[in-house]
Amino acid sequence: MEDILKKLEAESLSLEPDSELRALWRNKVLQYTEDFLDNVNTLNAFNAYSDEQINDFDFGISENPTNIDNLLEIIKHGVDIPGLNPASGGHLGYIPGGGIYTSALGDYLADIFNKFAGLYYAGPGAVKMENTLIRWMCEIMGFPKQSLGNLTSGGSIANLIAVTSARDAKNINCTNISKSVIYITEQAHHSLDKAFRIAGLSETIIRRVNLDSEFRMDIKHLEILVENDVQAGLNPFMAVGSAGTTNTGSIDPLDEIARICSKYNMWFHADAAYGGFFILVDELKHKFKGIEKSDSITIDPHKGLFLSYGTGAVLVKNTSNMVKTHFYQASYLQDADFDENEPSPADLSPELTKHFRGMRMWLSLKLLGLKPFVAALHEKYYLTQYFYKKIKEAGFETGPEPELSVMIYRYVPQNTDADLFNKEIVEFVKNDGRVFLSSTTINGKFWIRLAVLSFRARKSTIDTAISVLKEAVKHAHSKFGQ
Ligand SMILES: *Cc1c(COP(=O)(O)O)cnc(C)c1O
Repeated sequence: MEDILKKLEAESLSLEPDSELRALWRNKVLQYTEDFLDNVNTLNAFNAYSDEQINDFDFGISENPTNIDNLLEIIKHGVDIPGLNPASGGHLGYIPGGGIYTSALGDYLADIFNKFAGLYYAGPGAVKMENTLIRWMCEIMGFPKQSLGNLTSGGSIANLIAVTSARDAKNINCTNISKSVIYITEQAHHSLDKAFRIAGLSETIIRRVNLDSEFRMDIKHLEILVENDVQAGLNPFMAVGSAGTTNTGSIDPLDEIARICSKYNMWFHADAAYGGFFILVDELKHKFKGIEKSDSITIDPHKGLFLSYGTGAVLVKNTSNMVKTHFYQASYLQDADFDENEPSPADLSPELTKHFRGMRMWLSLKLLGLKPFVAALHEKYYLTQYFYKKIKEAGFETGPEPELSVMIYRYVPQNTDADLFNKEIVEFVKNDGRVFLSSTTINGKFWIRLAVLSFRARKSTIDTAISVLKEAVKHAHSKFGQ
């Protein structure tokens, strides 16, 4: 046995590289990231690729180690380059992500000491740090002091936690599920529909509330639907409002949804995954009026605070509603009691062991201060207004005036099908690669989207987008023969 231990110890010792090897690897990795950052403003937002090209890379696992230089080559050509480059300021599609440098430094620290952030007992400072961040977000959204929530991996899981908490708070179970009603619009994020299914709410009645001409919830229709359902003996229990839809950036009439939810004793969930942090901008704050009256809010720091992917948040006004769904006392965790003052993430979410997400967020906000974040959000708002003006001048049809930093537009040619024409525009932009734009379909019409949320998107980026779009129109005209 001792011989075996000796041999195994010698082999497993390479899990602990010495300082020389750490320096070698670290310097190579840092050199790679420094090159990336030095060139990020000239890198494409999208690099076309073929599946064969990706299949050529050997991501397979082997018994023996591989040289760091070889691995960085695989990472560069197999992972970093092909497809969308979310770190590029030219990423103006979907909802752009962040990736501020301080986020990586926070992760580096958190990963090295690998603090257990799931339970206060094990990582009191880590839990306190995360709860402080959550309380700060509650405060900016206008929730009371006792409110709390959870730092999640993203908005989808945040929505799921809100939905399961609402389900249990309103006692939805097998005796009433088929009479229970959820109200939501077609423009709500699809992660909510996923959440209903995962939460076992597929058998509820899910009503799609009409939209007004600017893709916001038609509040009169909501009130009529709820009133009719009550008359019919049904059980309306939740309404979802979006504070910045993914398609058009529209904000539902939050204050009015809150009024109806309060009148009919329904849970009001506000999905502010994309838009939430714009509340920090004084000029835009009024648009969120009523969000403080919601029961739960989803907000994504990996969108509006420009952190790297993997940081979302759910805020719940009455914490006991989260505890009901998520608290569990296991015998092997008997040392870690529920703490009223500093509830642990494990008590408020499905996770036990988790990434210490708070560190990247806290380090970023502390090291940089809040000011540049607010300025960047304000800037993105104005860049979108600027694009809106310029794209109109370029002869495009636009959707509603942008509420935040997402908008839709399309070119309407005289003798060609507009959908085909605009698909060709998007394809041209993708192959060009300088900027990345995505498309959507609303009421059967194909639209191109603009979403400005990369912290690296500047006025020059928008000017590039406009000129690429003008070239794309020319190209499409020549292709379709006009
Ligand atoms: C992005 C988004 C989500 C989903 O968040 P993920 O972080 O991608 O999981 C949910 N709702 C809205 C409005 C969003 O914009």
